Amino acid sequence: MATTVSRPTTDVSAAIEQLVSSVRGDIVQPGDATYDEVRRIHNAMIDKCPALIARCVDVADVIAAVAFAREQRLPLAIRGGGHNGPGLGTVDDGLVLDLSPMKGIRVDPANRTVRVQGGCTWGDVDHATHAFGLATPSGIISTTGVGGLTLGGGLGHLTRKFGLTIDNLLAVDMVLADGRVVTASADEHPDLFWAVRGGGGNFGVVTSFLFRLHPLSTVVGGPTLWELDQAANVMRWYREFITEAPEDLNGFFAFLTVPPAPPFPEHLHLKKMCGVVWCYTGPEEHADQVFAPVRDVGPPALHGVHAMPYPMLQRAFDALYPPGLQWYWKADFVRELGDEAIARHLEHARELPTMHSTMHLYPINGAAHRVGQHETAWSYRDATWAEVIVGVSPDPTDTGRITSWARDYWAALHPYSAGGAYVNMMMDEGQDRVRAAYRDNYDRLVTIKSTYDPTNLFRVNQNIRPA
Ligand SMILES: Cc1cc2nc3c(=O)[nH]c(=O)nc-3n(C[C@H](O)[C@H](O)[C@H](O)COP(=O)(O)OP(=O)(O)OC[C@H]3O[C@@H](n4cnc5c(N)ncnc54)[C@H](O)[C@@H]3O)c2cc1C
Repeated sequence: MATTVSRPTTDVSAAIEQLVSSVRGDIVQPGDATYDEVRRIHNAMIDKCPALIARCVDVADVIAAVAFAREQRLPLAIRGGGHNGPGLGTVDDGLVLDLSPMKGIRVDPANRTVRVQGGCTWGDVDHATHAFGLATPSGIISTTGVGGLTLGGGLGHLTRKFGLTIDNLLAVDMVLADGRVVTASADEHPDLFWAVRGGGGNFGVVTSFLFRLHPLSTVVGGPTLWELDQAANVMRWYREFITEAPEDLNGFFAFLTVPPAPPFPEHLHLKKMCGVVWCYTGPEEHADQVFAPVRDVGPPALHGVHAMPYPMLQRAFDALYPPGLQWYWKADFVRELGDEAIARHLEHARELPTMHSTMHLYPINGAAHRVGQHETAWSYRDATWAEVIVGVSPDPTDTGRITSWARDYWAALHPYSAGGAYVNMMMDEGQDRVRAAYRDNYDRLVTIKSTYDPTNLFRVNQNIRPA
C-alpha cells in the first residue's frame, strides 16, 4: 500500500540514526518492508501513517522513544494492544511507541499478584495466571491490550465479583514525559496512581502493571438467547435480575445477529436476537439453581451455558472479531433502564446493520459499586450499566451504514443516559465528552496532568489538557 509520509530533514535523520543505535527494538519507517503490517491497528477504518514506529523491547527503549518525541516535538502515540476504537494507539506523521514486543509476565502465586509488561494482551495474562488457578478481571475478548483497557477502567465478565480491572491494580511502573521512571501505587506518587486508574494514557507510558489475583479456574458461562419479539420482556426482567443476582453471576445484555457457525444451531443462524452472556464463578453444583430464573422470562431459543476454563470464555468471541474489521462505536453510562428507553432500544435493534454489529449493556454493580466515585479517576460508580452501540463490518463499503446506525441509535438513547460515557468505548468526540466522562474528577485530573505532563506530550488519547 502506498504511503504519503514526507521524508525527514538531515537534522531529523541524524536524530533518527541516534535513536536507532540507542534502542534494542526495531525502528520502522515508511518504505520499510514491515511498515504497512506494523502500522496496522485492530480497527481497519483507521488508516494512519506514522513517521516512525518504535517497537520497544524494554524500559530503556521506552525512555529513548519518549525523549526522541519530546526533543523532536513529534506527536506521540502509545500503542498497547492496538484495539482502541478511534485509533488512539497510532498517529499520522508522528512517533508510535509500540509496546507490543514487551510481553513479560511474572505470576507470584504466593502473594497472588501478577506483574504484566505493557505489550501484553489479556489472552497472554489469562494463559499465565490460569496455570496457577488464578485470574484478574479484564474484558470479554482476549486479544484486547492490557494497557488501554486497564488505564480506561476495565469492564468484563468479572466486574460484579471482583470489580473493575483498575480495582485490582496495585502499582504501575511508568516513564514520564520528562524521562523519569517512577512507580505509582497507594504509597508512591498516590496522586498519579489515582489518575491512571481511569485517566487513560494521559500521564506517561506504563511499562508494567501489578495486579491482584483471585482464585478462579472454571466458570459456568455462555449465552442465553431469546427471539427479538421477546426482547422488551427480557430487558425488563434483566434490569431487575442482574442488580439483585448473587455477585458470583455476571451477565451482559446484547442485541446481536447469531453467527452462522457452530456452536449455534443452524435454525438460529443469522437471526437477529437478544441475549445475555453469562459468567458464573460460584460453585458449579449451585449453577442450576442460580440460572433457574433465566427461564422465568419465557422459553429461551438457546441456553448455551456450561462449565469451562475461564480463559475459554475470554476467548469465545475472538474469532468473531478478528483484526481488520471496520468499527464505529458510541457509548453512554446508564443508571435506569426505563420502559421508554427499552422501546427506543427495540426500534434500533431491529435495524442491526450487519452480522457483527451489536449493542451491549455491561453491568456495573456488586464489587464495582464498593469503590467510591472519588477513590479513582473513573467517575461513574453510580451507573448501573455501560452501554455501547457497536457498528462493525468486514466490508469497507459498509462504513457509512454502520456509522449512521450507531449514531442514530446513540442519539435516540442518550436522553435516557447518565450523561457521560466509558472512555474506552468512545470515538474521538471532543473535550466536552471527555469532561462528561470524568465529571467532578476532571479538575483533579487536570491538576495531576499539569504536574506530570505540563506540555501535553501525551495527547493522542481521550485528552485531559493541562491547565
Ligand atoms: C474487540 C474489542 C473488545 C473490547 N472489549 C472490551 C471489554 O470487554 N471491556 C473493556 O473495558 N473494554 C473493551 N474494549 C475497549 C478497550 O478497552 C479499548 O479499545 C482500549 O483502548 C484498548 O486498549 P489497547 O491497549 O488494546 O489499545 P491501544 O490502541 O493500543 O491503546 C489505546 C490507548 O491506550 C493508551 N495506552 C495503551 N497502553 C498504554 C500504556 N502501556 N501506557 C500508557 N498508555 C497506554 C494510549 O493512550 C492509547 O491511546 C474492547 C475493544 C475491542 C476492539
